[in-house]
Amino acid sequence: MITIKKILCPTDFSETSRNALRYAKEFAMAMNAKLILLHVVEPIAATAETVPFISEAELEKTAREELDDLIRKDCPPSLAISTLISVGLSSDVILNAIKSEDIDLVVMGSHGRTGLTRLLMGSVTEAVMRRATCPILVVKEHEKEFVS
Ligand code: ATP
Ligand code: MN
Repeated sequence: MITIKKILCPTDFSETSRNALRYAKEFAMAMNAKLILLHVVEPIAATAETVPFISEAELEKTAREELDDLIRKDCPPSLAISTLISVGLSSDVILNAIKSEDIDLVVMGSHGRTGLTRLLMGSVTEAVMRRATCPILVVKEHEKEFVS
């Protein structure tokens, strides 16, 4: 018997994580599970003087808009979805959320914004897979799809 009550879908808004969201949604609907979308805002390095300064508050605001957009465009209203935005190291925040939210399944992309496809998977996915306390479904950008 399969009991999946809570699914966590961490997203960095990349194409690959959007593809993972398709899977997360279908699993949530099929299992009648709650879907939690999580975006992590990585703290800005204090020494990054050469890039225009964007405050964490601004990054969080943009993330909120992008999450709302994802839900509006990609998620049916019948689905129970909640969102989380946290500041921190992505893998640590995801690993903590798995525990604090009592997550049964994580659905995430193999790659993200950086998307170095020569690497088997990105560093966030690798760290989460190594230390996660629940099963992880890693979705690649191009593979045999079973969600239509
Ligand atoms: P790297 O960041 O190691 O240079 P990458 O960007 O290609 O490589 P990851 O960052 O590991 O790969 O991204 C893989 C998946 O991890 C994404 O598809 C997404 O599901 C999740 N992820 C990455 N960054 C974040 C983030 N900031 N917030 C939430 N989820 C994230
Ligand atoms: Mn990344």
